[in-house]
Amino acid sequence: MCGIVGYIGQSAVQEILLSGLEKLEYRGYDSAGIFVVDRMGNSHLFREKGRIAELREVVDFDVPAQMGIGHTRWATHGVPSIANAHPHQSQDGRFTLVHNGVIENFQELKATYLPDVALTGNTDTEIVVNVIAHFAKNDALTTKEIFREALKVVKGSYAFALIDSKDPEILWAAKNKSPLLIGVGTDFHVVASDAMATIQLTDQYVEIHDGEMVQLTNTDFAIETVSGSVINRAPYKATVDAADLEKGMYPYYMLKEIDEQPAVLRRIVQQYQNSAGELEIPNELKQAVQAVDRIHIVACGTSYHAGWLGKHFLEKMAGIPTEVHIASEFSYNPPLITGNPLFVFISQSGETADSRQVLVKIKEWGYPTLTITNVQGSTLSREADHTLLLHAGPEIAVASTKAYTAQISVLAILAATLSEENDFALIHELGIVANAMDSIIAEKEQIAELAEAYLTDKRSAFYIGRGL
Ligand code: GLU
Repeated sequence: MCGIVGYIGQSAVQEILLSGLEKLEYRGYDSAGIFVVDRMGNSHLFREKGRIAELREVVDFDVPAQMGIGHTRWATHGVPSIANAHPHQSQDGRFTLVHNGVIENFQELKATYLPDVALTGNTDTEIVVNVIAHFAKNDALTTKEIFREALKVVKGSYAFALIDSKDPEILWAAKNKSPLLIGVGTDFHVVASDAMATIQLTDQYVEIHDGEMVQLTNTDFAIETVSGSVINRAPYKATVDAADLEKGMYPYYMLKEIDEQPAVLRRIVQQYQNSAGELEIPNELKQAVQAVDRIHIVACGTSYHAGWLGKHFLEKMAGIPTEVHIASEFSYNPPLITGNPLFVFISQSGETADSRQVLVKIKEWGYPTLTITNVQGSTLSREADHTLLLHAGPEIAVASTKAYTAQISVLAILAATLSEENDFALIHELGIVANAMDSIIAEKEQIAELAEAYLTDKRSAFYIGRGL
């Protein structure tokens, strides 16, 4: 799953799409492409394997286009190649589609609807765009109806952005289990898999929920469920600070994010302090947690490791037995659930697909849920009963640093606010930790020299300690 940017408005679209995709580059991708429609209604498709910088070389910036879609691909079906890069077009050239996600019934779709269509690549996405074209054979259907008929038969995860070249005044989108947002401007609209891609253009965003389709023009947007109910949803202000996204003086985001840790820690303490200076979590959440007799932490990767420290805090400070589960293993090895459990989901992005799958199950079972995440309005945050935010600011590097330390800190705060003696001790401790981080960061040159001297030719390092 990688990135999507779509735009319909008044400005030259090529640069908007490319710089939007560049904002999502850090996620990793193997190929990229954009599709634009010019003022005369002519279509232009540009795709390249490799970096966006290479895509830039082949894009024609002189085409006067003000609507288009762009994509960075992380291959799931078919090798990284120009033929498999998105956008994908239907055989007749009418429809152009970008897609993040995985279509589960792609083989069945191909056999049912496309027995005579010669595909140019090996992606599930190319099958979907041709299924859309298949439904368009019925002249009586509008584009919306065509798109809807296709969505009804497509199974799997997707964020789609679609252009029907017969009607290039409209940009279409749909979402199921892959992130996608609408961005609202004064005389334009965008769709993006992450607000970060388009935050320079607008800070007003509207959520798209699973099973919804969207119609966008320069001036309007309309959301409907695939089954046809009209949805009214107001925009919210996205709080990503554009300055946070620039790596400034740093050669790598990871170095910037390591250095940000003391500031993040102090920000977290501030955010969780009440007017009396005590640590506090929302009362509703506090009551919900006090009613449980066991906590199940569900997470993946780095967040899973933070979960183990969370177990330590919750058992030692709050006296609540806590188990930690890897989200992707949960359905194969569900724990024995007794009494009144609480399920806690930890995810930097709030979009971790495996954790989300468990959350859906737990909600079906009717147990209370809490998400600890860095991203307000993310899927896991929206769908859980409660959310605690990390306040770490966007984490761009794939290797987690400040989000991890933020997770540990928020878990400690959660445990402390539940403990009998929720006093000022933890605030004091976290202050000491932030200062210690400052000192370590101040010595980073010396530490780099030591690492160079002792670690560069070693395969492993063992860190030995006890307890926290
Ligand atoms: N499944 C699609 C493909 O392999 C989309 C991958 C993505 O999310 O980037 O092309």
